[in-house]
Amino acid sequence: MVNPHQDTVELHHSFEEAYVWLDRRGPSILTTGAGTRFEAFATKGQKGEHLDEPVIKFFQGGKEFGRSYACCWGHYYNCSCTRIGMYCKAVDKAILEGSTDSDQIKENFPIIESYRNAAGKTIEFSVNLEDLSAGWTATATETDKSKGKRIGYHFHVCSSTPNEALWKVRTKIRRSLATKYLDVTEGETTLTHDEIVGRITSSDNGETVLEVDGKEVDAEKFWKILSAYEGFEISIVIREQ
Ligand SMILES: [Zn+2]
Repeated sequence: MVNPHQDTVELHHSFEEAYVWLDRRGPSILTTGAGTRFEAFATKGQKGEHLDEPVIKFFQGGKEFGRSYACCWGHYYNCSCTRIGMYCKAVDKAILEGSTDSDQIKENFPIIESYRNAAGKTIEFSVNLEDLSAGWTATATETDKSKGKRIGYHFHVCSSTPNEALWKVRTKIRRSLATKYLDVTEGETTLTHDEIVGRITSSDNGETVLEVDGKEVDAEKFWKILSAYEGFEISIVIREQ
């Protein structure tokens, strides 16, 4: 049996120092003493008894693995008996060393990450980070294995830091996969909520098509979808990725 706040870890910095450091730096990729890569960021509690309280969250592979409120800092287990000591130690050490980890990031990419879409299907991405002279770009391309015969999802973001680029592309993946735009029933494609958001790309034979929900929507299919809306108005906005 583990109790909340069980066991202690020796840290050089207070929770407030760590929080301010992470808040300024943005989502940060760090490595535990055992060599596990994770992401730490400062945010506020979203609900429950810790609503609006400062919290440091720890993510691995895009999933939350633990969090530390001020009360948990310095303990091996947090309020909900999750192991966080190794993460807190790594944050503490990074503050001490002022590490940036950029080179390490470059060496470690691309990486494979899995997410679930709105239909409960697992979508696997190859996530890559590239150092451009003007900043960093993160791309997430659905793997061949995951997309099968579909055209596949693809996301791309730019940022001034690698950590933020990675953070943005993961947020984009989650947000996008949480919404399902197309409903395919008995070969008929319709819209789930009168909205279509996707990416303009080309098919294998060079035809301009849309990618929506990771699926290809060609010209014929697009007009077929619209035919259900005769008499309504439409607005098309082209956005940067
Ligand atoms: Zn606590």
